[in-house]
Amino acid sequence: MADKSTGTPSLKEQFWDPVAGFGVTFRTMFRKVVTEQYPKEKFPTAPRFHGRHQLNRWPDGLEKCIGCELCAWACPADAIYVEGASNSDEPDADGSSQRFSPGERYGRVYQINYLRCILCGLCIEACPTRALTMTNEYELADDSRSSLIYEKSDLLAPLLPGMQEPPHAMQLGDDEKDYYRGEFKQGGDNA
Ligand code: SF4
Ligand code: SF4
Repeated sequence: MADKSTGTPSLKEQFWDPVAGFGVTFRTMFRKVVTEQYPKEKFPTAPRFHGRHQLNRWPDGLEKCIGCELCAWACPADAIYVEGASNSDEPDADGSSQRFSPGERYGRVYQINYLRCILCGLCIEACPTRALTMTNEYELADDSRSSLIYEKSDLLAPLLPGMQEPPHAMQLGDDEKDYYRGEFKQGGDNA
């Protein structure tokens, strides 16, 4: 201990404490390095990691989102904006279908603002059709506000083999109940 009257450090403080301090440094030099070399080396996330959202499709390519806005209401950060619209089986002027999802409604506008989103996952819990899920993608940083507002086109799942880009008629059943109950044959073969 330092001499209180003169403030002079004790012998222990002058000689042993610096040696002990460098000892910690010396020991650490030979330990396994745990620093991750991101972004040069990327490690897989945990399987249930909450990353970027995805809007899923049925096996015929129709969208699972019904534009109900439950995800937006569940979001504590007010990060989701949805506008629903009605499907129609009546062809429009050029003869193309107006159906984007089974049932009455679909999500015409769907946006997630990743400047607000805290990736908590409450929105995917609220979704009644499992239209909204989260991927493991975490590289969302950007330097412009507009690029961090993801539109429906950015969030929709890619078309897999056998899927057809909506709008088109229901191919897996006669009505939406066949879809929701899973009473259809995969790949659009409902014969
Ligand atoms: S993950 Fe959480 S914060 Fe992000 S959009 Fe969903 S509910 Fe909102
Ligand atoms: S993602 Fe789910 S909860 Fe959100 S609007 Fe679409 S169907 Fe409703």
